[in-house]
Amino acid sequence: MNIDEVVQLKKSLAKAISEEKTSAILGIMKQFNDDVVATKELLKKTDIGVFIGKQRSHPNADIARLAKDIVKKWKTAVQQSDPSKSIYSPKTNSDTVKVDDGGFVKPQPIDRSSIKIKRENSQGEISTPSPSLAKLENSFSENSSPSPSTPKLENDRVINNKGDRSFKKDNVGYSTGDSTRDKCIELLYDSLAFDSNNGIDIILNRAKKIEQMVLDQFDGEPEKQYRDKLRGMISNLKDKKNPGLRKGVVSGDITVQKFCVMTKEEMASEEKKARDREIQQANLFKARGAGPTQAETNMFRCGKCGERKTTYFQMQTRSADEPMTTFVTCIVCNNRWKFC
Ligand SMILES: [Zn+2]
Repeated sequence: MNIDEVVQLKKSLAKAISEEKTSAILGIMKQFNDDVVATKELLKKTDIGVFIGKQRSHPNADIARLAKDIVKKWKTAVQQSDPSKSIYSPKTNSDTVKVDDGGFVKPQPIDRSSIKIKRENSQGEISTPSPSLAKLENSFSENSSPSPSTPKLENDRVINNKGDRSFKKDNVGYSTGDSTRDKCIELLYDSLAFDSNNGIDIILNRAKKIEQMVLDQFDGEPEKQYRDKLRGMISNLKDKKNPGLRKGVVSGDITVQKFCVMTKEEMASEEKKARDREIQQANLFKARGAGPTQAETNMFRCGKCGERKTTYFQMQTRSADEPMTTFVTCIVCNNRWKFC
């Protein structure tokens, strides 16, 4: 396969990935695996090595495995042709972490109390605080047998700050052992959490996945490009005018995979899509809210009031092979959220 063919096929692969067509992705990757003779020049000119490298963290295990195989194979091929300069070989001075990057990553912890993020009113809020409705839903769920399918268990963690949330205030306390990466995860968490109704673990999970995927895009090096990319993503997530983007990422409507390849324009257009989704979601809650099928559970922690008294139902909102979406309603404050 020559350079032009590789570039062409790479485009098809990108398209298949964005459309989440698993069999097409696997087919194209197999072509890469079978028909590409990896050279340093080819990988450099087409960027295909980095692109395939990204797929190592693809949620589909077959795709991730094939990506790992290809990277391994190409790495060996390149190293054999030029052992001194593999494009994959990590830099040896990895113990010196650069921190002079526009203050994005600082070795010292930032005093967060001085940076107050004002919690905005999320418009399109579908919850109407109504204790009688909550009681109604509660009594319905008590009379019903619980749903047979069990949602993923959320950790029992306390949200101390009700409203104005951040990594520090939520007491997340997660570390990769690398200060640069930790800072990025913290900032991602802050940008996703500050006005979120979702529990800690869902948000942390998203922040971790985004960071990991970007790290993989830059071949495991938390250096300048990695920080630039994440800085751009974080500033878009924090955008007060675009709550739809961060809500979509937290709820899973925008997959981490997709978010990591979105352009600025695509991120901007998410606001409208999110509003459409919220109307749909509000209708779903309404349709199911008075029904007898909601199960009561203490498995979910409300991101608004911190209580664990919730009802939930699960529904297939996308294609049949996708995981179910879980819709949760807090009985105490009537906060509603969903995740998949
Ligand atoms: Zn609540």
